[in-house]
Amino acid sequence: RLFNDLLTTKGNVKVFCRARPLFEDEGPSIIEFPDNCTIRVNTSDDTLSNPKKEFEFDRVYGPQVGQASLFSDVQPFVQSALDGSNVSIFAYGQTHAGKTYTMEGSNQDRGLYARCFEELMDLANSDSTSASQFTFSVSVFELYNEQVRDLLSGCQSNLPKINMGLRESVIELSQEKVDNPSEFMRVLNSAFQNRGNDKSKSTVTHLIVSIHICYSNTITRENVISKLSLVDLAGSEGLTVEDDNGDHVTDLLHVTNSISALGDVLSSLTSKRDTIPYENSFLTRILADSLGGSSKTLMIVNICPSARNLSEIMSCLNYAARAR
Ligand code: ADP
Ligand code: MG
Repeated sequence: RLFNDLLTTKGNVKVFCRARPLFEDEGPSIIEFPDNCTIRVNTSDDTLSNPKKEFEFDRVYGPQVGQASLFSDVQPFVQSALDGSNVSIFAYGQTHAGKTYTMEGSNQDRGLYARCFEELMDLANSDSTSASQFTFSVSVFELYNEQVRDLLSGCQSNLPKINMGLRESVIELSQEKVDNPSEFMRVLNSAFQNRGNDKSKSTVTHLIVSIHICYSNTITRENVISKLSLVDLAGSEGLTVEDDNGDHVTDLLHVTNSISALGDVLSSLTSKRDTIPYENSFLTRILADSLGGSSKTLMIVNICPSARNLSEIMSCLNYAARAR
C-alpha cells in the first residue's frame, strides 16, 4: 500500500488503532482466544470486529508491530508539518494501554518524539538552500484540571476561564530553540523532570510537546510558521470511571470533559459541520490552531487487549469511530 495515500484520501482526521502485547498477568487476550464476545483484530483490512459490530480505521496494528512500522505511517504527517501545516498527533486510550510507549518508546525501540524530530531535521536538511532555512523550537506543557504547567520553566498557572482566543501562544509558554536531535531529546528529558511528582496525576493529565517550525527564505522573503503537536492524553477511563473521593472526581470530570470535547471537535470536523465546538474545553481551545482548517490530525488509539478490558476497549473504539 502507498502510505502517502493516507493524507490525500478523504478528510484531515485520521485514526490508527494499536494493540500492545499482553503481559503474563493480564489474563486471556481478546486477540489470541477469540470467542463470541471478543474482538478480532484484522490488520490486513484495518478493521476490528466483534460479532455485532465492525470498526474500520485508517490503520490497525497488532501487538507485534514495532515503532519503525508505526512511524512509516506517521511520516506523511511529519512531512505535512514541514510543508507548513499545523499537525496534531494524539495518543488516546485507557491507562496502561501504551500511550506513553507510543510517544516515548523504550531505549531499544524509540517512539514518536525522537522519530518525528529526526525526520523533521532530515527533511529540512535536504530542503535547505543557501537562501532558505528551517529553525525549530520546542514547548512542553501539561494540562491538569484548569491549570497549565509549563515544563520548560516549571511554572504553573491557572488558565483564564473565558477567553475566546486562548491559544498556546497566548498563554506564553516557554520555547527552547533546538538544532539537532540530541538537543531535542535533552530538552524533552529535562522538561519531563518538571512533571508533577504525584504519579497518580499522570493518568489525569494531558502532556503536550509542540515542535514549532519556522521556514524562512531570504530571496522570496517567505516566512512560514507551522507546528507539530504530540499529545499524550490523560487516560480515557475518565470517561467511565466513577469515584467518591472528592478531589479525584474533579480530575475525572475534567478529563471526561476535555476528552469528550476533543471527540466532539473531531467528529464535527469529519462531518464538516459549520461550527466547531472548540470552546468546550481548555484542551481544544489551546490546540484549536492545530485542529481543523488546513491542519492535519492523527489519533492513535492504544488498546491493551486483555479480555478484562473489553468494555473499556469498546468504549474507546466507539469514541474513535466517531472521529473519522
Ligand atoms: P499508558 O501511557 O497508556 O498509561 P504505557 O505506555 O505506560 O501506557 O504502557 C504500559 C506498559 O506497557 C509499559 O510498561 C510499556 O512499556 C508497555 N508497552 C506499551 N505498549 C507497548 C508495545 N507496543 N510494545 C511493548 N511494550 C509496550
Ligand atoms: Mg502514560
